[in-house]
Amino acid sequence: MSNETNSSSYGGGHALVVGGSMAGLLAGRILADHFERVTIVERDRFPEGPGFRKGVPQSRHVHVLMTRGRQIVERLFPGLEEGLLEAGAELIDSAEDFEFLTPAGFGPRFRSDIPFLQCSRELLEFAVRERVASIPRVRFLQKTDVTGLLANGEGVAGAKVRVRDGGTKEVILAELIVDASGRNSNAAGWLEELGYEPPEETVVDSRLGYASRIYERSEVVSDWKALLVQAAPPDVTRGGVLYPIEGGRWIAGLSGVGGDYPPTDEEGFMEFARSLRTPMLYETIKGLKPLSPIHGFRATRNHRRHYEKLSRQPHNFLVTGDAACAFNPVYGQGMTTAAIGAETLEEALREQGPTGLSGRFQKRLAKATSAAWLLASGQDFRVRGVEGASPSAATRLTRPYMDRVMQLSLKDLAVRHILLEVFHMTKPPTAMFGPVVAAKVLREAAMDIGKSRWASLSSRLSLGKERDPKEVGKSSETQPPAGGRAAEPFKAA
Ligand SMILES: Cc1cc2nc3c(=O)[nH]c(=O)nc-3n(C[C@H](O)[C@H](O)[C@H](O)COP(=O)(O)OP(=O)(O)OC[C@H]3O[C@@H](n4cnc5c(N)ncnc54)[C@H](O)[C@@H]3O)c2cc1C
Repeated sequence: MSNETNSSSYGGGHALVVGGSMAGLLAGRILADHFERVTIVERDRFPEGPGFRKGVPQSRHVHVLMTRGRQIVERLFPGLEEGLLEAGAELIDSAEDFEFLTPAGFGPRFRSDIPFLQCSRELLEFAVRERVASIPRVRFLQKTDVTGLLANGEGVAGAKVRVRDGGTKEVILAELIVDASGRNSNAAGWLEELGYEPPEETVVDSRLGYASRIYERSEVVSDWKALLVQAAPPDVTRGGVLYPIEGGRWIAGLSGVGGDYPPTDEEGFMEFARSLRTPMLYETIKGLKPLSPIHGFRATRNHRRHYEKLSRQPHNFLVTGDAACAFNPVYGQGMTTAAIGAETLEEALREQGPTGLSGRFQKRLAKATSAAWLLASGQDFRVRGVEGASPSAATRLTRPYMDRVMQLSLKDLAVRHILLEVFHMTKPPTAMFGPVVAAKVLREAAMDIGKSRWASLSSRLSLGKERDPKEVGKSSETQPPAGGRAAEPFKAA
């Protein structure tokens, strides 16, 4: 455990973390292995148990912990998952237990052994927070805002804080400061105040909105434990999920891109649910007892703040979690990316120590989060009216290939398995271009080309003035075998 570790690349010292949510807690856990003291400064007062707090308004919405995130969190806190399962969380197999309507059709159901952890965000955060709180080197400073940084030569030497009750202002000195204050991080402004350039920012905004509600779970409704209906932009803007959470509850989440925001009134919510590509979600929740109001959420754009590109790095200052890179949440990558950030910090501290840590950490983090970025922003570029950056040439060029992978994954379990591993971040997106998938995609494409050639040849023959009836007969006999895919273009995934 962290409190037993004596390796301190900072020779003891004090580390300060801004924000006590997932990214801040996980960073705190790593820092406790390297610093004598770790202070996590959080503007909220934490609830006694799993509960809502203002600083994490997204906790009212579905939060899935992907397999890669599960693995990292369990390594950092052995036994955490067992405790969560005892508290009512569930492990959902991504194919066997999961009814998944992709843009191309329903995913096949089979035992994938790629489970994700499903419980409320509030329970998960509480369980992690309790574990971090039990590390003697860590202390929380609650109801306290970080308002700026203190400069020291080429680096940062502390944080300015304001205590919420009473408004006392203080400076806390630290050898390392980690910003994990989420999407609305002020770190760029704090650095500007110290004379640093702000980081460039890449934004892709599909104007996605969420509306969510908790229901009492019905007894047995189906052979699935969780349901996901994806949108299929540009034409189909609406999606929805129904996932189990502890306490015998469901959480239902509706989402709409391109400004097609789901309503938060009862009638509008149900009407939106009914309008999804399958009525399954609507049919399941329509008779259930609601246990919460309907909550909306719209701050969902993808952003990347390129701290790795700063020409002058602020020594002793790092940015992680949503503060550095945040995604359209429908892909469920945020907490796993926070965990990857913690792992990146661990590697950077272990292998390299403090010298030049800031620049090296930010570069590593940018690399480590680029897969999640590609996945989320690549899909969002399909949305009509998407705002911000334009898709890269690679994204545009690989789109038809990706469409074929998606379609193939509905009938080929090996391809589906690889796709699920990519979604769960246990494999990089390049796995979809590996030999197994590529060979199958190319074979399908070749068959389609063959079919469309046949189609155009036979139509020319049938329209030609001098057509030979014998030839026409021959062509129909030698058509590609039944079971080959139709030649019409695949509709956008
Ligand atoms: C609608 C929605 C659904 C999502 N669903 C999923 C999902 O299914 N799976 C998944 O993995 N991720 C999901 N996410 C993303 C996930 O919520 C975040 O990626 C995750 O919480 C990590 O964020 P963070 O810790 O960096 O920031 P946050 O969770 O935003 O926390 C920031 C913390 O910093 C504190 N703070 C802010 N400013 C200051 C300051 N100046 N001083 C002191 N404290 C401060 C805040 O109070 C807060 O506690 C979803 C997000 C949204 C919006």
